[in-house]
Amino acid sequence: MRTWVEINSENLKYNVKMLKKLSNDKDVLGVVKANAYGLGAVKIAKILNDIGVGFLGVANFEEALELRNAGIESKILVLGASFSEDFKEAEKEKDIHLSVSSFETLEFIKNKNLKLPIHLKIDTGMTRLGFNINDAKFAIDFCLENKLNLKGIFSHLSDTDLLTDESKDFTLEQIEKFKNIINNHNIEFIHISNSAGVTNFSEYIFGNLVRLGLGMYGFSGDTKDKRLKNVFTLKSKVIFIKETLEASFVSYGRTFKLAAGETYAVLPIGYADGMKKYLSKGSYVLINNIKCPIIGSICMDMTMIHIPKEKRENIKVGDTAIILNTDIIDSLNIPELCTWDIMTSLGRRVKRIFI
Ligand SMILES: *Cc1c(COP(=O)(O)O)cnc(C)c1O
Repeated sequence: MRTWVEINSENLKYNVKMLKKLSNDKDVLGVVKANAYGLGAVKIAKILNDIGVGFLGVANFEEALELRNAGIESKILVLGASFSEDFKEAEKEKDIHLSVSSFETLEFIKNKNLKLPIHLKIDTGMTRLGFNINDAKFAIDFCLENKLNLKGIFSHLSDTDLLTDESKDFTLEQIEKFKNIINNHNIEFIHISNSAGVTNFSEYIFGNLVRLGLGMYGFSGDTKDKRLKNVFTLKSKVIFIKETLEASFVSYGRTFKLAAGETYAVLPIGYADGMKKYLSKGSYVLINNIKCPIIGSICMDMTMIHIPKEKRENIKVGDTAIILNTDIIDSLNIPELCTWDIMTSLGRRVKRIFI
């Protein structure tokens, strides 16, 4: 193997249980959108099913159908918006819940007499999808009066990672707005929190279900949370080593110059595999526990790293390089870095190995 990602199933299960505990034992909806953040939605859905997580979240109706076609029978909530056709199609499926963000859609469901399970999405500050909060009560009443199959009400927190005082206040306000809407309605699923909501705001989270994505995969935003275990390790193997004859620019664009007589290695992983170009701004790989900085621009299929002089004899072709894991990502200080972006960018050539 040239380049692969190792997915630690036991640690994934551990993280789900830990997050469930942190959420004061709320039900878990496992978010497996975007092919489970690049790791493999069907495999992850099965692991979740093994530990009793029978509710999955995806981004769109197509992703829900893919899971069904692969034999996954869990309940599925489509978190994103859907078109009218999707509502008609979902009506024919079992346990595929769709989100609703507008009165047009509610009217459509009523007029077509659709009975599929729906969740009302309420905008408490994300300003993406969802009913405005002053419309929320009307939307709920509309569902009740017209006997639509209203299964859930939810909202989405927009600033749970940074944890400045302002972002904390904003999140608490979002939760408060959501609470006020719910009142005494007796609805099966009430949910507002993503992973970082659970890790950073556990005592405030309202509802009976939490939607866990990144946290299951071992991260809390772009940093490590010591309560969670590493799930994701991206690895590659040294494929070539050479010493510079003279001071030399490395890679495209001549952005980095390596001194004469220095050793560098080439790794068969590039941005087509998900090695984001911004990782050349300060990331490194670990080979036999030796820290080797990434040098020069990252290419489509290859990345160059510097081998420190005193370690020259300790690294050879074929040695395994750890490219990214929670500790490495946590140690980086790159403004563009985004864990969700890194995971979902993993390319087709990267083998997914479940251990
Ligand atoms: C993606 C998504 C989640 C999961 O978020 P994480 O931060 O990865 O835990 C939860 N809710 C909604 C609506 C989402 O789109």
